[in-house]
Amino acid sequence: MNNPAHQSTAGRLELICGPMFAGKTTELIRRIEAARAAQEITLAIKPAKDTRYADQELVTHAGGRTRAMAAATAADILSAVGDARVIGIDEAHFFGAELSAVCLALVASGRRVIIVGLEFDHRGDGFEPFPTLLAHAHDTTRITGVCSSCGGASIHSQRMVTSAERIHVGGIGDYEPRCAACFIPSAR
Ligand SMILES: [Zn+2]
Repeated sequence: MNNPAHQSTAGRLELICGPMFAGKTTELIRRIEAARAAQEITLAIKPAKDTRYADQELVTHAGGRTRAMAAATAADILSAVGDARVIGIDEAHFFGAELSAVCLALVASGRRVIIVGLEFDHRGDGFEPFPTLLAHAHDTTRITGVCSSCGGASIHSQRMVTSAERIHVGGIGDYEPRCAACFIPSAR
């Protein structure tokens, strides 16, 4: 039925994925600020575990920044969204598989959700929530950086420190961007 008073409430899922040091957060900040400029109510979220730069801001390795809320779990994101229509989530792999259902619920409620993070872990395996969300995304942007070994297009994040943890919060020195040929998966 054609109802002229009915406004489209179709949600949208956008993914921005790639290795560390490729500019993913810069692209997220660009989309969030463009939505703000268009008078959309936005909410940028970062994992509370990621305290590398600032608690209440998204900060890029190059120094770009925008305000953001720190969330401890995916469930915390659901309770924080309020009136926000555009939600950007940085370092989404920190939230793990639990984030998939939260994202899909937000999209089903008509929101635009932008998910940013590493689609591969340090072993080269799919990093949830990306394997699940890739199947649902309306738009996927894969950003590559520069391989630290050969200068080719990096898709992996080579861990340079020894840690058995799947999540190791690190910056320059702890990880290097690597192409598929130069990437050496961490031992199992
Ligand atoms: Zn390489």
